[in-house]
Amino acid sequence: MENNKNLRNWLNKMELAHPIVIAGPCSAETEEQVLKIAHQLKETDTTVLRAGIWKPRTRPGNFEGVGALGLKWLQKAKEETGLMTATEVANANHVDLALKHDVDILWVGARTTVSPFIVQEIADALKGTDKIVLIKNPVNPDLALWLGAVERFYESDVKNLGVIHRGFSTYEKTRYRNNPEWQIPIDLQNKFPDLPLILDPSHIAGRRDIIFDLCQTALDLNYDGLMVETHFDPDNAWSDASQQITPANLKQMTIDLRIRKQEGDAVEFKNKLNTLRTKIDVLDHQLIESLGKRMKIADNIGALKKKNNVAILQTKRWNEILGKMILEGEENQLSEEFILKIFKAIHQESINHQKKVIND
Ligand code: PEP
Ligand code: MN
Repeated sequence: MENNKNLRNWLNKMELAHPIVIAGPCSAETEEQVLKIAHQLKETDTTVLRAGIWKPRTRPGNFEGVGALGLKWLQKAKEETGLMTATEVANANHVDLALKHDVDILWVGARTTVSPFIVQEIADALKGTDKIVLIKNPVNPDLALWLGAVERFYESDVKNLGVIHRGFSTYEKTRYRNNPEWQIPIDLQNKFPDLPLILDPSHIAGRRDIIFDLCQTALDLNYDGLMVETHFDPDNAWSDASQQITPANLKQMTIDLRIRKQEGDAVEFKNKLNTLRTKIDVLDHQLIESLGKRMKIADNIGALKKKNNVAILQTKRWNEILGKMILEGEENQLSEEFILKIFKAIHQESINHQKKVIND
């Protein structure tokens, strides 16, 4: 899969004046629910109605989807509103049923993308299709695995492809349900600028209050669209209740988001600058997070030294760190002067942390 411009054709053909919006409930629950949400979304910038029919749940005992019956509701919603429809497929049987019910966009879920066997089964079932296929990132932060899935579809002659960034799971609890790890989709975008990239802020956030900011970051990074879980009564949704927003919220959000226009030299300059600045913001955020983690480890070392009655400053260890970092700095085009400055500051902060632990 070289940098193939055809990959973007399906999106260009839609001739949208704004990034594509895919919205709808995490799960189709009842016919009334699907139809009501579809009609409400008709009044927003939404082009595609999403709804999960088969739900992959990490733990058993949660709602696992209504199954094939829900496909009829999606079909009816399309007839009544003209919205395109999208659902998740996780095996060849799902593909067969979705195609029979005229679903326009099939997406591969994060728990499926991790498995090359299942991805291949779905790619085989879709061989030569004109349908749009969107591939969510795998649950683990592995760009090659994500691209591997895209390549399997491409080799199966599925040309209308795109990817969905839904974040990556971590063992430690963070403010996100799934860590965005923006660097991964940014790397993907650099490698395949013509592969449409869509943000799923809902599964990254796991909560409503940070969805807007995630969407804004994605638009500033030139993403092609958003997939947002939307329900008229989010709190009572049968799955992912805490992260869904109402169609009215979605409408307001698309009004408030800064969407970049793509004409004129001055605008292009601003867009490019904005994209680069957002990349810097992402890295700065990672720097602060890494420094915070480093200081937590310093606290642990402080506690250990206290227990064993050892001095805070270990000159030999410190000189070893500096020597290593100067060499690594060189490999990354960072001057010795800069490395010395940064690491002296980090070391000082580390000592302060340890002192605090020891004196407490
Ligand atoms: C979903 O879109 O509802 C879903 C299950 O997503 P993911 O595969 O990203 O967890
Ligand atoms: Mn969901």
